This record gives sequence, C-alpha cells and structure tokens, in this order.
Amino acid sequence: MEKPQYVKLTVEGSKKTKWICGCFLTEDDYFKFCDKHNAALKKAVLAQIDELDMTLVINEG
Ligand SMILES: [Zn+2]
Repeated sequence: MEKPQYVKLTVEGSKKTKWICGCFLTEDDYFKFCDKHNAALKKAVLAQIDELDMTLVINEG
C-alpha cells in the first residue's frame, strides 16, 4: 500500500482524527485536507462564497 509523501510532513501525535485518504483533524481542531479534498473543498467554498457574506479586505497593512 503506497503512502502519499505529505503524510511525512505532519506530526502524528497531534492528530485527533485521521482519514485513509490523507485528511486529518488535529487536537487543536485544525483540519488538514489531502490534495484531492483540498481541491474539492476550495471549489465548493468558492461556489458558495456569496452565501458566506464575508467582507472583503480593502486596505491590507
Ligand atoms: Zn481527503
């Protein structure tokens, strides 16, 4: 069974939940998504960004 390389970059001890695809949730409730789901979620968020009613940053810094 082959393992994706990015798994090596993570800290095993801090993971609360881990999925077989590579996604995981840390003890700090930080979600890290695998490449496949990261792309899918980004697409989903961008598709619904208007419904989130967020305010754009006009002046940064
Ligand atoms: Zn995933």
